[in-house]
Amino acid sequence: MKFSSLVSFFERLEETASQIEMTEILADLFEKASEEDIDIVCYFVLGNIAPGYSEADLGLGDKTVISALALGSGRDEEEVSRWVRDKGTLSALAADLEIPWKEGFRDYIAVEDGLRVEDVHDALMQIATASGSGSMKKKKIILGAMLAAADAKERYYITRLATGTMRLGAGDRTLLDGMSYSISGTKEHRPVLEHAYYTCSDIGHVAKVLKRSGISGVKKIRVSLNRPIRPMLTQRVGERAEIPEKITSARIAAEEKYDGERIEAHKDGDDIHLFSRRLTDITGQFPDVVEEVRSGIDATTAIIDGEVVAYDAGEGTYQPFQQLMHRRRKYHVKEYAEKVPARYVVFDLLYLNGNSKMSLSYPERRAQLKKILTPSDFLSVSGMKVCASAEEIHDAFSSNLKRGLEGVICKSCASDSVYEPGNRSWQWIKWKKEYETELTDTLDLVIIGAAAGKGKRSGRYGSVLCAAYNEEEDVFQTVCSVGTGFSDEELEALPGKLEDCKREKKPSRCQVRNQSEPDFWFSPEFVIEVLGSEITRSPAHTCNWDDDEKRGFALRFPRFIRWRPEKSPEQATSAEEIAQMYGQQGS
Ligand code: AMP
Repeated sequence: MKFSSLVSFFERLEETASQIEMTEILADLFEKASEEDIDIVCYFVLGNIAPGYSEADLGLGDKTVISALALGSGRDEEEVSRWVRDKGTLSALAADLEIPWKEGFRDYIAVEDGLRVEDVHDALMQIATASGSGSMKKKKIILGAMLAAADAKERYYITRLATGTMRLGAGDRTLLDGMSYSISGTKEHRPVLEHAYYTCSDIGHVAKVLKRSGISGVKKIRVSLNRPIRPMLTQRVGERAEIPEKITSARIAAEEKYDGERIEAHKDGDDIHLFSRRLTDITGQFPDVVEEVRSGIDATTAIIDGEVVAYDAGEGTYQPFQQLMHRRRKYHVKEYAEKVPARYVVFDLLYLNGNSKMSLSYPERRAQLKKILTPSDFLSVSGMKVCASAEEIHDAFSSNLKRGLEGVICKSCASDSVYEPGNRSWQWIKWKKEYETELTDTLDLVIIGAAAGKGKRSGRYGSVLCAAYNEEEDVFQTVCSVGTGFSDEELEALPGKLEDCKREKKPSRCQVRNQSEPDFWFSPEFVIEVLGSEITRSPAHTCNWDDDEKRGFALRFPRFIRWRPEKSPEQATSAEEIAQMYGQQGS
């Protein structure tokens, strides 16, 4: 396919804001493109040069592109930068800037004009793979060569592809719809296409198979090593009691919920690759996990799914997510692997010794996983308790919280409990600490301010700013803003009730951070009872303010319960009590 033909599709896509029109244009594009080019066409439409999981990175910052334009056109960089400022974008300038063809360009690009889609892709891949000394110069020359062989419109889109600013407005789902349209004029094939896409994570591959072998070919797309499978997702319910209603199997597996990072590991002999939840290859970040998988998984080939969690092996305790975040780095990787050891807790087996395991039931997959995994301090199968009732689920949940875990993931044990790539299925339901009232006590807090209501609440108060009493300093320190739990009548009555204690300025005994300043101030008089999910550290509230850390305590998800007219402001829950409650949480 000529790149200029593809450019005219890009233009059509950019001209429409209608989703359906976009789908039709994509269907048309799908028909016009050849089987050879269709994968590249798909990547380009999405603004990429390869499937999302590949490590292909052009490494072209704006400065490099400016320098390439200057080099190619024989102008100085200052002048080119000025033009970019005048034009607004690099791509707009590139469209205007002709680059003369040089004979040396033939080393990088086959044609002097009449670029094909394949030529542009080849050149971009050469840019992405150039490495070592002199690679920057090489990248600039290749970009110059491509631009020299292109016309104005082509230069515009090539520069957008090169600078990662394509954004045509079509996402991968619209592209799948386009494919479905091209074969049937409807979206009917989208589920099959989506399933294939979620299984191989390469939309270009799905498109190629569809062109070559039709929808029946797409149905045969299988898992393959080093192509990440989209992780199965969890659902949430409003009430814990709903879990056994939604998961209809007689037995429900309540697995421990870990607070770390989802990682899918691919083992091909000794070659290990790790993929993040966003399907990027993060093998380099976790050399310790790579080693654990290499030595602890007894299989020639395997794909496993699990969570990497910061772990204190001495104490046998899991550490908070924030600890693991220190491992997100390009440099000092080994040093931080020692500073913040991580345990890979595996909860699923998707592929084993050449065969997909995704259509097996959850209990079968788990049984096979246990057979191939040799546990160590830093590699284990997730903890799990089989439950037959809501009470048993609750016991598992409470016991997990006591051990510092986040909650439970309840999983169906039915015979059809297959692994559903990318799907938020009712087979897996999470229940976290935040959803439950873990505070044994409610808090009695003093109203010191209010925010003006918006939308349905305009003319009334939207929420009230609440404070605890700090006995030591004899001041009121904020803990939360409460906007839920009030009935309509209570909301209606609130301005009248608080009218007498309204103040122009912040009352002197109230300590409030700038970011939490309310629209209206009240002298501390009224006490309300408030229920919350958890006490956290927050820079927005002043309760027990720690000046070094610049944080106080805050109540998460606060809810109004009732007025406490019998309590004076100084009888409200104290800042010290809140600090104690924070310390007792989850123990
Ligand atoms: P959330 O991130 O709160 O939406 O919860 C879902 C996430 O919990 C998953 O994507 C996993 O990363 C993580 N997770 C932790 N423990 C488990 C487990 N035992 N089974 C499945 N997912 C888990």
